[in-house]
Amino acid sequence: MPLQLNDHGLLECRAFVAGRWREGVRTFAVINPATNEEIARVPEMTPADVRSAIDAAYLAQKAWGSLSSKERGAILLRWQALMLENAEDLARILTAEMGKPLAEARGEIVYGASFIQWFAEEARRAYGDVIPPPQSDRRIIVLKQPVGVVGSITPWNFPNAMIARKVGPALASGCTFVSRPSEKTPLSALAMAVLAERAGIPEGVLSFVTGTDAEGLGLELCTNPKVRKVTFTGSTEVGRILWRQCAHDIKKLSLELGGNAPFIVFDDADIDKAVEGALIAKYRNSGQTCVCANRIYVQRGILDAFAPKFAAASAALKVGDGMAPGTAIGPLVDAQGLAKVEDHVEDALVKGARLLTGGRRSSLGGTFYEPTVLVDVKSGMKILAEETFGPVAPIVVFDSIDEVIALANDTEFGLASYFYTRDLRRTWKVAEALECGIIGINTGLISTAEAPFGGTKSSGIGREGSKYGLDDYMETKYLCMDIGV
Ligand code: ADP
Repeated sequence: MPLQLNDHGLLECRAFVAGRWREGVRTFAVINPATNEEIARVPEMTPADVRSAIDAAYLAQKAWGSLSSKERGAILLRWQALMLENAEDLARILTAEMGKPLAEARGEIVYGASFIQWFAEEARRAYGDVIPPPQSDRRIIVLKQPVGVVGSITPWNFPNAMIARKVGPALASGCTFVSRPSEKTPLSALAMAVLAERAGIPEGVLSFVTGTDAEGLGLELCTNPKVRKVTFTGSTEVGRILWRQCAHDIKKLSLELGGNAPFIVFDDADIDKAVEGALIAKYRNSGQTCVCANRIYVQRGILDAFAPKFAAASAALKVGDGMAPGTAIGPLVDAQGLAKVEDHVEDALVKGARLLTGGRRSSLGGTFYEPTVLVDVKSGMKILAEETFGPVAPIVVFDSIDEVIALANDTEFGLASYFYTRDLRRTWKVAEALECGIIGINTGLISTAEAPFGGTKSSGIGREGSKYGLDDYMETKYLCMDIGV
């Protein structure tokens, strides 16, 4: 069925390179994971196309970087306003190409736009510094300047917001930007490009290069000397490759990589609130986010109060096409994602876990999987060691605070964590001991443009959002003046 949109101009099927809309000699299909239907065909761009986008970005950066932050901000605010005006269409395109429920897609558009707004405003406060010198004839001044051309590589799970979180600070600070969106979700990116052009973002400042040759297109972004920074969201495995590729030019890097978030419920927690938070932290985007609760630790005394409630609420979530009203769990993005979920559940069951609900594919077929809750989950099961990226909640029982802190930290990842308690001493002890970048305390919802998002350990480097997010796109330059007195 053709996609119903108010403005069909937003379903753009050409790439946007160096200010021009480009058809490809070859194209590839974008598939709706809920129906398996082809939505559109999009150009297969090549590393040479990435190069021309970089050349244009390099040329455009001088003029863009010379605008005042207020002038750049005004253009970005127009772009943000257009995103909000067209939110319904953008959300429908997003749901069609990656499957998340439409209500979540609408939320993502508003969330993505909030980063453009935040950084349009924040760049006006990219203060430098005047530092007291050690000698009376010296003056020390610090300037903040844009790093230059930024290359961006993003995944499919937030096709709009992952780009918005990077392009916002990049453009606001005076950088120019070459984006290579995921091959699974290029249409949301191209719709952003349509609106960027309408907002008056100058030619060459922003390019979107589509293609399935992830390695080739990525290699050009990482090794072209005109690119001064690479920003990536995706797996730790690919993050390592990109870091190595960027080593030669010592490019600046931001990496938002995998997570393995613990969700801890202490025995003094508000159980209803913890169930509600666990539902949000576990099932958003069908469990396909890097901050999704991947391991649920419940203190022994409240296991019987928490687990059945959580399982019943999980079983009540409606599985279906994201476009259908009331859908809470959309399809998994592809067969590979489904196979991983099935493998993790089977491995846990073989090793002694018990199902409270779900544990199988949905009767809808395709890549739909039932929300699943497992208990008696123990160390040594894959489901605790790897990111499942699906609607499966493994519950592990624990006895003491020290035990659960050790369990929670027993992972190479350090992105998000969550815990529920009403005790202040415990709150501080656990918050300070967890090895991660983000903690939700008595809440399952943590992302906002005002706060720094990012990981520790193998979950990455850099922060997106907040006052810290701008720094990742700026250089610090120190001027030392001898004023001759
Ligand atoms: P996932 O697909 O699980 O989100 P990946 O790390 O595989 O995580 O992919 C994230 C993004 O990185 C996608 O756009 C993908 O196409 C791209 N990608 C994958 N491998 C490479 C690579 N070797 N070089 C550059 N980009 C890559």
